[in-house]
Amino acid sequence: MPIDVQIEDRVQMRKQHPCGSFEWKVTRIGADIGLECVGCTRRVLLPRSKFEKRLKKILNRDVDLGR
Ligand SMILES: [Zn+2]
Repeated sequence: MPIDVQIEDRVQMRKQHPCGSFEWKVTRIGADIGLECVGCTRRVLLPRSKFEKRLKKILNRDVDLGR
């Protein structure tokens, strides 16, 4: 089931970023998902499949994937 994620969503990932933050802002949607770390503003691109595996919560829409 594809996960409905949108630009500007705040998401929590399963692994902590080295800066200590778990929270990311979605900056781009496509085959790759663009994310900006809320803690340190670093930007990354993840293939959608990898993103979906690592995603834990969509914070601003109260979506908890239960993992
Ligand atoms: Zn960070």
